[in-house]
Amino acid sequence: MPELPEVETVRRSLLSTLVGKRITGVNVSMPKLLRNLSAEQFTALAVDRHFVDIVRRGKYLLFRLSDGYTLVVHLRMTGQLRFATCEEDVPRHTHIVLDLSGGHQLRYTDIRQFGFWFFARNEEIAQVAGLDKLGPEPLEDDFSVAYIMDRFLGRRGKLKAMLLDQTFVAGVGNIYADEALFMARLHPLRTPDSLTQDEVERLRSALRDVLAAGVKLRGTTFSDYVDGLGLSGSFQNQLLVYGRTGQPCRGCAGVVERIVVAGRGTHICSRCQPRMVD
Ligand SMILES: [Zn+2]
Repeated sequence: MPELPEVETVRRSLLSTLVGKRITGVNVSMPKLLRNLSAEQFTALAVDRHFVDIVRRGKYLLFRLSDGYTLVVHLRMTGQLRFATCEEDVPRHTHIVLDLSGGHQLRYTDIRQFGFWFFARNEEIAQVAGLDKLGPEPLEDDFSVAYIMDRFLGRRGKLKAMLLDQTFVAGVGNIYADEALFMARLHPLRTPDSLTQDEVERLRSALRDVLAAGVKLRGTTFSDYVDGLGLSGSFQNQLLVYGRTGQPCRGCAGVVERIVVAGRGTHICSRCQPRMVD
């Protein structure tokens, strides 16, 4: 599932190619992917508008269009946006195609069809479920030690589940949560309210470092993910624990284990990330 670094990479890859292009036609073969409009309504509203900017918020992409409209896209599990020329073969599982000025297209493929599109006036996009409740961006200043300490105060439950909670921090998913917890030497089953200020500082730094590195390496490609120009990321070569079950820990002589936390496969080194703290 694309997380902050992958979605940000898609944003950056499409920005220079898409901005300024005008939508000349719309072809929707899977109308259920349009969250709030019929294919006819979407076509009527989108055609002749042009792309002004692309913004990311958490794992949501916000395409700003002319005349005060925004297209919100969430890729969920297997959604992909591809900028292409009209002549290029249309891949399987292509469900929405925007024809663009200059003989180009923006194509949306989604094998599992969990993603969605929402198109509305700028002031109406707060209606998108989850978008209005997102926590701070982890790479921005408001994701501060004070903020985390405040949110962790009296908080039981599991530390990893907290990192995956988009209302606590926006854009973090399974891969980068595991990597950050390993880097911070924190067990994912710790309760948030058990962390000391020093541990919170380690966690914040680790999360920011791993996400920034993920963006720099243009995301993690295991199976599906590619950016808006079809290029794979390379952060998968840097992973410390995620997907490395049974392999040697990169921090000690131990072995990476897989446990289940909050229903998600979770990768840890129990020597580097002790469950109990003295
Ligand atoms: Zn270790």
